[in-house]
Amino acid sequence: MEGIWFTEKQLPGLAVSCLVKKTLHHEKSEYQDVKVVETDTFGTMLLLDNVIQTNVRDEFIYHEMISFPALNTHPNPENVLVIGGGDGGTIREVAKHPRVKKATLVEIDGVVVEVSKKYLPTIAAGLEDPKVEVKIDDGIKHVKDNKNTYDVILVDSTDPIGPAVGLFAKEFYTDVFNALKEDGIFVAQTASPVFNGEMIKRIHKDLGEIFPVKDLYVATIPTYPGGYWCFTMGSKKHSPREVAKESIAAPNTRYYSPDVHFGALALPPFVEELVK
Ligand code: SAM
Repeated sequence: MEGIWFTEKQLPGLAVSCLVKKTLHHEKSEYQDVKVVETDTFGTMLLLDNVIQTNVRDEFIYHEMISFPALNTHPNPENVLVIGGGDGGTIREVAKHPRVKKATLVEIDGVVVEVSKKYLPTIAAGLEDPKVEVKIDDGIKHVKDNKNTYDVILVDSTDPIGPAVGLFAKEFYTDVFNALKEDGIFVAQTASPVFNGEMIKRIHKDLGEIFPVKDLYVATIPTYPGGYWCFTMGSKKHSPREVAKESIAAPNTRYYSPDVHFGALALPPFVEELVK
């Protein structure tokens, strides 16, 4: 795949293409097809089953936005779990937060972790942080086995196919609720409000039956379908809308800021409609 166009078929009638200069790595793991390519526009890029996961150009947007809104909504997010996220970008941001003491990453596919360390070192840097423990295991099983343990749980998953299907199910959200401490908070990436509206509606209905507080916020991520992306929050106590602005930590962030914390929660009516 040298000097040719990689095309991700994002929807039955929609594709995005990137010019690929070089394939750096390609293997089939037990769970998925794992590829790292050097692209012209986005730099080094990780593809799983030919779906863009992350790239060195825009990764900061997704990784900051999946992490900091929950970390700053919780008054003391000492013990944090990341499910998925084997590239290390989310745990890198989590470890940067001054109030985090311990961060555990549970990724089902060890190949993603190893390949990211080798080819995406700026993203994978957090995997070596002394606060971070990496476990190669199924996140669905991990939350079932660890009750009343975490202050914040972040689900940085692939789309709901293969081993990630269960990460979008009501039973999983109930297990996440039980794995959180009494004022715990959970965030998951929940795709595009333009293209995945029905899924977002269903997730919010499920979460409304489990968590006393639920919310949704948005960010712009150029390489994901539609470019306009949702993150869903379930919380036992704290609301992201009631955070004191002066308490917000945004260490060396490039997208997230105290203003963006609140701005991301301002939803256009068509998105608000999905989460009512
Ligand atoms: N930011 C990316 C996105 O939205 O496309 C996700 C990146 S991260 C690479 C997604 C990871 O979730 C993959 O490495 C995949 O192996 C992992 N994953 C999928 N199902 C999982 C499960 N049940 N438990 C733990 N990790 C899982």
